[in-house]
Amino acid sequence: MTDMASSAPPPAGEVLIPKAAIRARIGELGEKITADLSDADGAPLLIGVLKGSTIFMADLARSIPLHLEFDFMSISTYAQTGPQSGVVRILKDLDLDIAGRDVLMVEDIVDTGLTLTYLLRSLGSRRPRSIRTVTLLDKSARRIVPVPVEYVGFEIPDVFVVGYGLDFQGRYRNVGDILAINDVPRLASDPALLVPDLFGLSRNP
Ligand code: 5GP
Repeated sequence: MTDMASSAPPPAGEVLIPKAAIRARIGELGEKITADLSDADGAPLLIGVLKGSTIFMADLARSIPLHLEFDFMSISTYAQTGPQSGVVRILKDLDLDIAGRDVLMVEDIVDTGLTLTYLLRSLGSRRPRSIRTVTLLDKSARRIVPVPVEYVGFEIPDVFVVGYGLDFQGRYRNVGDILAINDVPRLASDPALLVPDLFGLSRNP
């Protein structure tokens, strides 16, 4: 079997956080979250924001040895009001009623904070017993609105990243490391640019 995620750094990007460091940090986060959720009233509910948080949520949930439940939301930024407006459109809402539940929001990355602010407001109005947020990555230097984030995996600088759930135009979510893209315009002009280096396959764009 080929380990697709551990090939040499690609030219337009470089490894920012290797998968071993991600694994170790998730273990630490899991311990902390387990302790904090041990007084939950019933099964804590992990809420993932599709699609970027799925890989993180899968690994994080397995580092929390508590009886948990999962739910997911899918959102997009409102095109009419623009990405900086903080207005988010819910494409898929939760399946479950969260009233009285202990909720853990699982985010891949918090950047400006606009998306998370909107989500916390929306979920907070549904009267959960408690609501906390964990994000794998925090680009706090780019924050526009202050937003509470109880657990942060890694603080990262203002760089565009892919891998471990994070994509560029739908690609690279299944790369095990987190890669910093050095040349975003180059990748934008050729979105499959990193595929041969990362996967050793034909470009198959
Ligand atoms: P915010 O509302 O905090 O500005 O944006 C959060 C969302 O922007 C994330 O959930 C993610 O979809 C996207 N995002 C922000 N920074 C990055 C990045 O460096 N890489 C990728 N792939 N997505 C990002």
